[in-house]
Amino acid sequence: MTRIAIFPGSFDPYTKGHHDIVCRGLNLFDKIIIAVGYNSKKKHYFDVDQMLGLIKSAFEESDPVEVIQYDELTAGLAKKYQANYLLRGLRNTTDFEYENSISQVNRYLNQELETVFLITSPQYASISSSIIREVHKYGGDISDFLPYQLP
Ligand code: ADP
Repeated sequence: MTRIAIFPGSFDPYTKGHHDIVCRGLNLFDKIIIAVGYNSKKKHYFDVDQMLGLIKSAFEESDPVEVIQYDELTAGLAKKYQANYLLRGLRNTTDFEYENSISQVNRYLNQELETVFLITSPQYASISSSIIREVHKYGGDISDFLPYQLP
């Protein structure tokens, strides 16, 4: 059976921390769908269409990775893509508290869905999209935190 995982998130922006989780996840799954959650009411700082292209550019054409945008329940999205796994990253206990609750809800909504957590690699543990946005907003250089070049 093909093991398909969804890696859902805001990815505003997609960072080297996220990229590390996907690259390590590729050793576990046959295909990973990076699903950028976008809701027209919740504005993103980085343009979503541009971010989809930038995420794609961080991979080789032959990598079994698909990058999509979505605005629905993650559990429903997984069914649509025949994905039985959700991939998530854990940096610390704050992440754990949050991830624990959403994984319980997702399992309730879709019994076939297992959430698989990968612990962040130490060199990326302090990278967070919100801090990167703040640095960028005030003109700081964020290129070291991203696995692609911002235009
Ligand atoms: P969300 O809004 O769903 O939390 P994020 O884009 O912030 O979306 O994160 C998506 C996933 O990536 C989450 O599981 C989060 O814990 C994980 N993540 C975020 N930053 C890192 C990092 N530096 N290292 C490992 N995992 C991370």
